[in-house]
Amino acid sequence: MPQIRILPEDLRNKIAAGEVIERPASVVKELIENSIDAASTQIRVEILRGGKGLIKVADNGTGMDMEDAILCLQRHATSKLQNEEDLFNIRTMGFRGEALSSIASVSKMRLVTGLRDSSSGVSIEVYGGEIREIKDSPSHGTSIDVRDIFFNTPARRKFLKSDSTELYHIIDSVTKEALSHWEIGFRLFTENHETMSLPMASGPRQRIVQIYGLEFIEGLQEICSDGHGLKMIAFVSKACNFRNSRTNQFVFINKRPVKDPTISHAVYTAFEGVLPRDRHPVFFVFIEIDPKRVDFNVHPAKREVRFDNKDEVHRFVSSSLREAIKGERVGYTEPLAEGRPYSSLDTRCLPAATIEGPPRESKIFWGISNAPDRISENLEFPYTPSIPFVYLGDTFVALSGKGGLTLIDHHAAHERILYENLLKGVNLHPIRLLFPLHVKLSHMEHTVILANIHLLSEMGMEIDDFGHDTLIVRGLPDALNKSDIRGILSDIAAAIMEGTKPGRSLKESLAARIACHSSVRGREILSPEELQGLISDLEKTESPEQCPHGRPTRIFFSLDDLRKMFKRK
Ligand code: ADP
Ligand code: MG
Repeated sequence: MPQIRILPEDLRNKIAAGEVIERPASVVKELIENSIDAASTQIRVEILRGGKGLIKVADNGTGMDMEDAILCLQRHATSKLQNEEDLFNIRTMGFRGEALSSIASVSKMRLVTGLRDSSSGVSIEVYGGEIREIKDSPSHGTSIDVRDIFFNTPARRKFLKSDSTELYHIIDSVTKEALSHWEIGFRLFTENHETMSLPMASGPRQRIVQIYGLEFIEGLQEICSDGHGLKMIAFVSKACNFRNSRTNQFVFINKRPVKDPTISHAVYTAFEGVLPRDRHPVFFVFIEIDPKRVDFNVHPAKREVRFDNKDEVHRFVSSSLREAIKGERVGYTEPLAEGRPYSSLDTRCLPAATIEGPPRESKIFWGISNAPDRISENLEFPYTPSIPFVYLGDTFVALSGKGGLTLIDHHAAHERILYENLLKGVNLHPIRLLFPLHVKLSHMEHTVILANIHLLSEMGMEIDDFGHDTLIVRGLPDALNKSDIRGILSDIAAAIMEGTKPGRSLKESLAARIACHSSVRGREILSPEELQGLISDLEKTESPEQCPHGRPTRIFFSLDDLRKMFKRK
């Protein structure tokens, strides 16, 4: 009995149109999602040459009989959608009936499938969308080989990136599917080696541990919430575990990995007042919602969703998370200020003495000689006047001299100096760790960092592979904080994944990303000597005016400028 039918035209027209297969990773995603819909408990993915040579996905799911196996290759052929009503009640990963036909038409494909409880099976060979051979092949479950993707569409083949970049995207796809389908075992083989092995897990926590390691999950707090027809399990950064980029941020709606601005915004809202400026939380948000209240038919690759009431979803997520984030901060001296703008410092990372007192924004630290008492009281270092300066808040320093007033952003200045030192491999003062650090990363992070380890060693980072997605960090430039090493490595991986911007080499992108982690961030106020050192080091850089991200490091007002501002000219 065939399960699959061709969608009638009126229904086809209601399905979000567009290209499903953009690159090998989209093939991997579609094939895995088909295996998930076929109730598989084990999925095996094999990749050669970043998917350009081979993509193979094999499962132990329901399988298909011969009739369905032939039908499934046609456009708009699906067993998952019957009528228009179903389109608003989608409970499967697929529903468009387009993936297999699209994949088959741009590759050389072999489909081997057999029903679970039958001793027969079929093998079908397709070449650029044309069936070439059908033969008996007893099998259980389904296995699909896709070779030479885009062999017949050279224009699209040309747009494929290097094997390693395509592989990163594939690992990303497998990771996302595996995160939300913890009950399924996943194995990934690249170039005939098993590179990822995820046995069936009991829940999202165990799956996150399998992928990222125990230490990683210890930096997250788990939040469960239920109400208004919505259920959520979330794992979000504990304070002090923020990143410099939006890495490791995942949203799943009914187990579907999506990019959803509503949920991401809700998470950031929950962190308001806690999240330091330019820092980002890690989050894994798993939402379950009645499929009638969400439209999955928005994006051809099903990467986006539309909620019937997005304000309600936003409120649910942000208020549930906010409660927990507040709860986690209990015991710290500084109360969480409602609605306060993002503070520029992660106050929980500071020693208690600096947290006490009025809100940081209102503090002005005087470093000039007529206010020595306040300096020793607030800054805890012996004051020796050298250059006249005033600290404004915790980031800006005002200096007089050179015929005017200079404002320095000391974080930006420090980043510029470290950035150039990293690029040139000078003045890094690498510190060899007495006890090398073992850092378990996700498979993707591990793969991309290993491929670029030579660049990191030129930047004073002594790193070796330990296998099992773990790196050993033996040495670091002294400006980096070893307790932040996981965040640094995640950011490095993210920078490699994002690729280079025009006019910027990979080394420059990496140096910029690493420079963000300069430990001056956590040190708050500099001593006059440190400040003097910073100013003279900044002077020696090639572009002292800007941090590596293009923000100014200093702004100068000449006396003339000031006269003009005061309308004295
Ligand atoms: P969709 O998933 O949107 O229905 P596809 O083109 O991906 O469309 O797949 C077409 C049909 O082929 C599916 O509806 C399903 O019935 C069948 N199918 C695809 N892959 C598998 C698989 N791994 N196991 C069993 N059936 C499958
Ligand atoms: Mg599908």
